[in-house]
Amino acid sequence: MIKNIVILGGGTAGWMAANILAKRWAKHLIQVTLVESSDIGIIGVGEGSTPQLKSFFDYMEIAEEEWMPACNATYKTGIRFSNWSSKPGFDSYFHPFPAQPDDYSAPAFFYNSFVRRKGIDVDAHPDKFFLATYLAENLLGPKPDHNFPFQLGYGYHFDSSLVGAFLKKHALKLGVHYLDAKITDVKLDANGNIGQLVTDQQQAINADFYIDCSGFSATLIQQALKTPFVSFGKNLFNDSAVVMPTPAAADIAPQTKATALSSGWMWSIPLTNRTGNGYVYSSNYLSADAAETEIRKQLDLLDSNVAVRHLKMRVGRVERHWVKNCLAVGLSQGFIEPLEATALHLVQETILGFAEAMEQGDFTEREQKNFNQSINQRFEAVRDYIVCHYRVNSRTDSQYWLDNANNNYLSDSLRELLQVWVGGGNLTQEIERQKIGSYYPSASWHCLLAGYGVFPTKEQLSPGNEIAHKYNISNIQDFIRRCALNFKPHREQLNDLVAKKQVM
Ligand SMILES: Cc1cc2nc3c(=O)[nH]c(=O)nc-3n(C[C@H](O)[C@H](O)[C@H](O)COP(=O)(O)OP(=O)(O)OC[C@H]3O[C@@H](n4cnc5c(N)ncnc54)[C@H](O)[C@@H]3O)c2cc1C
Repeated sequence: MIKNIVILGGGTAGWMAANILAKRWAKHLIQVTLVESSDIGIIGVGEGSTPQLKSFFDYMEIAEEEWMPACNATYKTGIRFSNWSSKPGFDSYFHPFPAQPDDYSAPAFFYNSFVRRKGIDVDAHPDKFFLATYLAENLLGPKPDHNFPFQLGYGYHFDSSLVGAFLKKHALKLGVHYLDAKITDVKLDANGNIGQLVTDQQQAINADFYIDCSGFSATLIQQALKTPFVSFGKNLFNDSAVVMPTPAAADIAPQTKATALSSGWMWSIPLTNRTGNGYVYSSNYLSADAAETEIRKQLDLLDSNVAVRHLKMRVGRVERHWVKNCLAVGLSQGFIEPLEATALHLVQETILGFAEAMEQGDFTEREQKNFNQSINQRFEAVRDYIVCHYRVNSRTDSQYWLDNANNNYLSDSLRELLQVWVGGGNLTQEIERQKIGSYYPSASWHCLLAGYGVFPTKEQLSPGNEIAHKYNISNIQDFIRRCALNFKPHREQLNDLVAKKQVM
């Protein structure tokens, strides 16, 4: 039924939506038009991904050598969290992306985490158990040699403006129409659907369906359609960020660093030409000036005149993402702060989920309802995982961290997960019972809780018997080391992409 789709907004969300829909519905002769205002511009942050982004580029049939060098991109095998916990021995841990060899090592980690929660002194720090962790620590890239028979999930770091420009070029090749114009008015029809967009030059733009990728302004979904916003502010305090680049590091580790500071945390994202840094904090606890001083100090740039950017974030989601003839995608539909870099993952899930719903059920209310429910569940599940990072922190150096640790505004799901962990229960079974393993798998929850050292204290631990010490950690580490022999240095893998591109 739909013949004509207009996407409002040309940030990463808008161009991802344009590419997916232009490819997916090419044979249905659906015209996709993207309207954006270069005067307004894009947010220009969002430079880390989950492994899901690989499936986007695979779906688009865009090879890594085509897009990665063009966007100064690097590989990512996970995130290193530092200073979130003050428990001795647990000041830092790595959250790895899943890899097939984990099938061998993760059961030992789960077992040891369980045994340690029961009060027995076995090694349960996540860093010893995962190949992705070893690769990041040793500056190895995530692409194995051809003879290595196991798959490894990995994500990317990239320059978001360059990715936008790359995707724009690609979308135009697929036949997407483009208009640089500022929308100043949105007219609704008698049924409350969006009837037309009007530019500041009084040009009217009509479509059967509209996709709102207008960023935090949420021009269509909120301003025009008045869809209520559900704030996550009660359990995610951060609402601001200050961003500043530094020169590229000599060694590029395939990892994002997430380091806790006085009233939030700082990311460090390595690109081939620079490192992106940003301090995400709560303005209720820290002024913008103090945040800037703290990040400058952290980066040893107190006296430098490198420019910073201050940003505001709106954390939460719209009540419904698909309303009438409008779908909200990207920051317009919501945002769960950048820890774990999930925003583009949600963008992708939203567009693909919408496309599937449309294909299966046309425009029925039932399809809309199911779709909105499933995207809301996804937002909530990601939120809970992020909230857990704050709730189980054990820092005592600022009111911010104390308030986070004492914040009992938790979902039932998260509360039950924490009860199972602390009560010495089976976390994997609880994740299965709640049916939330497709959002964050058991390994991720184990890494988070074990990585923070949420265990009985050292004094409460006893040595345990042979059954408790069933796994030999050095055998596991040896296995990981031998697996890692099949991976070249990260830098070499990035250089290979450039060489491949030159041959093409
Ligand atoms: C501090 C911070 C860190 C982040 N880190 C990550 C991360 O590591 N990983 C991750 O996945 N995500 C991250 N994100 C989220 C990420 O930045 C966004 O999901 C992503 O950039 C997509 O943004 P967008 O396209 O929705 O919005 P924008 O980039 O803001 O684009 C909005 C578009 O709408 C257009 N527009 C708006 N109003 C009008 C109008 N009236 N007329 C015409 N055009 C209009 C603008 O011109 C622009 O083209 C982060 C976000 C923040 C705030």
